[in-house]
Amino acid sequence: MRARVWGCRGSLPAPASDTVRYGGNTSCVELGVDKDIVLVFDAGSGIRLLGRDLAARGSLEIHVLLTHLHLDHLQGLAFFQPFWSDDVELHIWGPPSPTFSLAERVAAYVSPPLFPVHLSDVPSRPVFHDVPDEPWMIGSALVAGYPVVHQGPTMGYRVTAHQRTLAYIPDHEPSLGVDLGQLEPDWISGYRVAEGADVLLHDAQYSSEEYRTHVGWGHSSIDHAVTFAVAAQVDRLVMFHHDPAHTDTELESLRDEAQALWVGRHPPVLAAEGMELRLGPEGVAIDSPSSAEPSQPVPLSD
Ligand SMILES: [Zn+2]
Ligand SMILES: [Zn+2]
Repeated sequence: MRARVWGCRGSLPAPASDTVRYGGNTSCVELGVDKDIVLVFDAGSGIRLLGRDLAARGSLEIHVLLTHLHLDHLQGLAFFQPFWSDDVELHIWGPPSPTFSLAERVAAYVSPPLFPVHLSDVPSRPVFHDVPDEPWMIGSALVAGYPVVHQGPTMGYRVTAHQRTLAYIPDHEPSLGVDLGQLEPDWISGYRVAEGADVLLHDAQYSSEEYRTHVGWGHSSIDHAVTFAVAAQVDRLVMFHHDPAHTDTELESLRDEAQALWVGRHPPVLAAEGMELRLGPEGVAIDSPSSAEPSQPVPLSD
């Protein structure tokens, strides 16, 4: 199983000279398990560049797994090249809702006045699915989606293939109204998604201080992300959904904070655009793009 991060920013794209190392595009992670089948977590602005890459690879079966319908997880869909192709098989999965179907909720964005073309006129004619209650197979991947605490219906996803598991919970506030450290596992939001995962990509939006003024906004502080991952016995935590106000340098100090709290073998790392994760029988490898390494001052030459 191979994953690639195409966007890991939360809330709003944040392109700027001081967000280059970790990237400004919003949530999108590609997951490859089988040849010719691509799984995609979320359709944030990062999905635009993934679409260009997929178009060059030829026709495919694509499954977009939406965690929820907030714009930072949906805004790239209409700019995803396969969306406009009539020779792909495009499936879109998302959280069930008691009020509107998934297609109706996506069409609220892909229709005038917010977008010039209506969803019903899109050439790929995507097939919409509510995430089932029980795990299901996509190719040789076992996929499970479970509701997690956020704002509105929201899923976390767990994908297992070749004895390795990757979990994805980009928007999550597991500590809302509870002391995470005191809860039995079955009472922790998202526990079933992350339990024993080899890799967890998890919300790490706020510092502890910032969280105090954002209780109930649906996101985690660094210590909540670490406490949750440790409780769920996750092997590797990848900090995800970076706040748009955080610069690269600020993200690196949040990462240092997370590493100081961590008690496992592999210290947490920051998700970065271009990051590749390989999960195989021999173990897990995470390759960060070189730009995501802390920059070293280069002496000026005359
Ligand atoms: Zn989000
Ligand atoms: Zn959200």
